[in-house]
Amino acid sequence: MTRYVVLGMGAAGITAAETIRRHDPQGEIVCISAEPAGYYSRPGLAYYLSKELGEKSLYPFTKKDFQWRKIITYQNTAVRVDTETHEILFQNGKRVRYDRLLIALGAQAIKPELPGIHYDGVVYLDSMAQTQQMIRKARFARTAVVIGGGITALELVEGLQARGVNVHFFLRGDTYWNRVLDRTESKIVLNRLKHEGVRVHFNTELDQIIGKRGKVREILTKDGRRMKTRLVGIAIGVRPRLGLAKASGLDVNRGIKVNEFMETSAPDVYAAGDVAEVFDPDAKQYIVDSLWHIARSQGMVAGLNMVGQRKPYRRRSPLNVTRLAGITTTIIGKVGSGEVEDEFTIVRGESETWQQTPDAVVCQNNFEINRLRVMLGDRRILGAVLMGDQSLSQPLEDLVANNVDVSEIRNVLVQNHDAMGPAILGFWNQWRQQHAN
Ligand SMILES: Cc1cc2nc3c(=O)[nH]c(=O)nc-3n(C[C@H](O)[C@H](O)[C@H](O)COP(=O)(O)OP(=O)(O)OC[C@H]3O[C@@H](n4cnc5c(N)ncnc54)[C@H](O)[C@@H]3O)c2cc1C
Repeated sequence: MTRYVVLGMGAAGITAAETIRRHDPQGEIVCISAEPAGYYSRPGLAYYLSKELGEKSLYPFTKKDFQWRKIITYQNTAVRVDTETHEILFQNGKRVRYDRLLIALGAQAIKPELPGIHYDGVVYLDSMAQTQQMIRKARFARTAVVIGGGITALELVEGLQARGVNVHFFLRGDTYWNRVLDRTESKIVLNRLKHEGVRVHFNTELDQIIGKRGKVREILTKDGRRMKTRLVGIAIGVRPRLGLAKASGLDVNRGIKVNEFMETSAPDVYAAGDVAEVFDPDAKQYIVDSLWHIARSQGMVAGLNMVGQRKPYRRRSPLNVTRLAGITTTIIGKVGSGEVEDEFTIVRGESETWQQTPDAVVCQNNFEINRLRVMLGDRRILGAVLMGDQSLSQPLEDLVANNVDVSEIRNVLVQNHDAMGPAILGFWNQWRQQHAN
């Protein structure tokens, strides 16, 4: 009987465990997580903070669901893997043997190096425990300062606002999430935030956090302004958790390096999800993502390979349908502005691919809060951002993911932006019908 051990009970780990069970009814499956909360929806934390979801609804599985699948789960923190003896070493001294191991330890929030960063009151929307702690603290806070760009920064801003806290949102420059959104999109989001009562501070950087008896009391900005606050929310990005992989001698770069079969540099050791840097054979490069559905599909491929099927990972164009300041937004494929920072950074709910700037013509239109931006290559749509009206979300996803030749409507897309929507829709309907036959 094969013993499969899965380190990490997030989207990647649990999907791998379910896949293994489907294909190996007899094997022993053990899933271990450092968090007492076990398996929960990490993106759902934002909705929990904003009171749109109760805590219970974040747990997709009950204890019985795991028992029924014969998946053993427990809490422990792994520190190293002995790849020679096939053993995992835990913080409490325990050792666990494996035949096949999946490392799915996810990523963790980056802590900026700032005086006072360790004070009580500096919060992150990163785990169940941190979110619960933030909710408790929000009861006694009148003001919060949030720094960062990307989805989680906005979720922190809006979640704290929903908890009755006055939020000051600090932006380093004069736009929001400039790696991915263009100026118009950023403006739409920021206008909406201001309308909701959030105070947006442009060109404002945190210099230090001032505390009293270990607790946040005030902040100081780089241009010398002071502001009283009890909470400082940080969402400047995440980094794959590489401590265990490094201590175990695995090949790592920005994430744990895996080939298209999710194999690491050590035999019988696989990695998937936010912790991994995965080889994409189509793009011929290693890519880091922080997306739930990508973590799931990598977990599934890892599971299949762990049971002995030789199944390569084929990466669909990364997509996220999210909410930015209440505006439903879909981001697909390569949409980057070219404003990439010196050091590679990724935020939760983001793909490295979005940051890439394609060789493309930008075709765009916007009507009030509805905005459509299409990145058009020679013959193909390489990426798109849709805000508000989502009727083109599925068509654009299909056209980008399937690399469809759109030469037939190229002129309309380039020359008549008001007619872009109907042209894409009509073309996609036609393509779908041909595809169905
Ligand atoms: C607030 C928020 C909003 C998000 N929004 C979106 C979104 O809109 N769209 C989207 O696609 N994605 C979103 N994401 C990202 C998404 O949640 C992640 O991409 C996904 O959870 C990654 O899954 P994973 O299994 O790789 O890692 P994780 O879900 O991070 O799971 C890692 C697991 O490893 C465990 N672990 C860590 N260290 C150890 C150790 N040493 N020993 C044992 N276990 C350990 C953890 O306890 C955890 O169980 C969001 C995330 C957050 C936090």
